Amino acid sequence: MILPKIFMKHNKLNRNEVNSDWTLFLDRDGVINKKIDHDYVRSINRFEFLDGVLQSIAELSKVFGRVFVVTNQRGIGRGLFTIEDLKAIHKNMINEVEASGGKIDHVFFCPHLADDPICDCRKPKPGMAHQALKLYPEIQFDKAVMIGDSMSDIQFGNALGMHTVHITKADESQASEITSSLFKWTSNFLNIEFSQD
Ligand SMILES: [Mg+2]
Ligand SMILES: [Zn+2]
Repeated sequence: MILPKIFMKHNKLNRNEVNSDWTLFLDRDGVINKKIDHDYVRSINRFEFLDGVLQSIAELSKVFGRVFVVTNQRGIGRGLFTIEDLKAIHKNMINEVEASGGKIDHVFFCPHLADDPICDCRKPKPGMAHQALKLYPEIQFDKAVMIGDSMSDIQFGNALGMHTVHITKADESQASEITSSLFKWTSNFLNIEFSQD
């Protein structure tokens, strides 16, 4: 299903529309944690939260009914780290989020290479959204927000009819709106000022 999406940079989501029926989908690298240039986060000690992310997720967890992470991790397909390594990283990430008062209900990941014929889950393919729907049948994609820093995140969300937020330095995007960080978007969306550290 491909929905025509016109350029809607200023289509900001209204806080008053959003309640616990809504679901938040977050990309991981470049949204929650720092991206590592020309490499992957292969272990817990290479995983570094971006500024303000823990506070942002804590605030957003009070608003959205469910918070998911959807992440492409082809480093597994390349044999650079294992699913066990990834699960350890995610367990640690979830613990830190919970210690800060937030929640991540589930982490969905695609371990496949880009050209793997069995893969239906590497974003922009919708497989991870379908996995989420299977586990949480109450999800409505038209009451969902996808926040990511790649075009594949935005295409994934747009194709499912989600509200999309592109973290980018570019001034144009196919996303519903553009921002510079999860922290920035959260403070605008909730109209609050809170500490970045
Ligand atoms: Mg990313
Ligand atoms: Zn996949």
